[in-house]
Amino acid sequence: MHTAPAPLVDRFGRVHTDLRVSLTDRCNLRCTYCMPAEGLDWLPRSEVLSDDEIVRLVRVAAGRLGIRTVRLTGGEPLLRRGLPALVARLAALGVELSLTTNGIGLARTAGALRAAGLRRVNVSLDTLRPERYREITRRDRLQDVFAGMAAARDAGLAPVKINAVPVRGVNEDEVIELAEFAARHGYRMRFIESMPLDAQGAWDRTKMVTADELLARLGARWDLVPVGRHGNAPAEEWRIAGTDTVIGVIASVTRPFCGGCDRVRLTADGQLRNCLFATTESDLRALLRGGADDDEVERAWRRTIARKGAGHEIGSADFRQPDRPMSAIGG
Ligand code: SAM
Ligand code: SF4
Repeated sequence: MHTAPAPLVDRFGRVHTDLRVSLTDRCNLRCTYCMPAEGLDWLPRSEVLSDDEIVRLVRVAAGRLGIRTVRLTGGEPLLRRGLPALVARLAALGVELSLTTNGIGLARTAGALRAAGLRRVNVSLDTLRPERYREITRRDRLQDVFAGMAAARDAGLAPVKINAVPVRGVNEDEVIELAEFAARHGYRMRFIESMPLDAQGAWDRTKMVTADELLARLGARWDLVPVGRHGNAPAEEWRIAGTDTVIGVIASVTRPFCGGCDRVRLTADGQLRNCLFATTESDLRALLRGGADDDEVERAWRRTIARKGAGHEIGSADFRQPDRPMSAIGG
């Protein structure tokens, strides 16, 4: 007889239904707020979970723990070989699948990913200017990103959401243009406050463009009507009055949404994290490779959630940046 899985609940009563899976820590860009120009010490291939291992963990998560949505990320997830086949296997488990990507290579793969069961994509794009794109990402690939977003939209991976991280003195003067670009092409714009998750440890609070500042900029141009938040979604949304255009703001630092967090994260090397900012992890890969059965995997997963903290405390003096950067955790 089929029984509904017991929810993955923590000691604050938060129920976890969303899983972020990092498919690789590697990337073909070097965004300045994410990693250094020379890249990082990438994980050896043997340490990265195989497709079979990822499928097994997601099967446990969906079948026993109540995970319903899975977002594939990285590093750059499109660098993972055979991605459409993996997507098809994960979609067959009944979870709703989305992907966060820098968009490079998406023009080639969007159709296959859609056919395999992927539902939506978020594409990261911080500027519309080629010269500035090269400065931010240290690569000359802006046209590939534009092509990727259009292909995703045309393949039905809708709505395509654009994620931008505004940084003071770098691209904060472009937020209106980015929002207009998104509206013109049928994409949905979201701005993300920069977080202390760069590999270099160079995050500087004074360079972060806060939600308040962003809204002041956008509000000077348009009449914004608050839409609120969809469920536990990290983005708060505003609609441009008299239009269908919705703009999202993810204010992880200045307006943390930890109280409604429903997310758990699996790194490319099989470490389970209960928070982006967690300083501890559970080694699920060791369990799998040591021959653990699904009961043991389930117990480890529940233990990890049971010790989840109330919030990230970036604002407090005790805040400690996690050892892994965003690209290695899976943003
Ligand atoms: N490579 C893919 C991409 O760029 O979309 C997926 C991984 S990336 C780590 C996921 C998201 O994290 C991107 O939207 C990126 O802009 C964002 N990100 C990276 N470093 C960040 C930071 N220090 N603060 C805030 N967002 C960051
Ligand atoms: Fe790569 Fe994404 Fe980090 Fe940019 S933000 S370097 S695209 S992982």
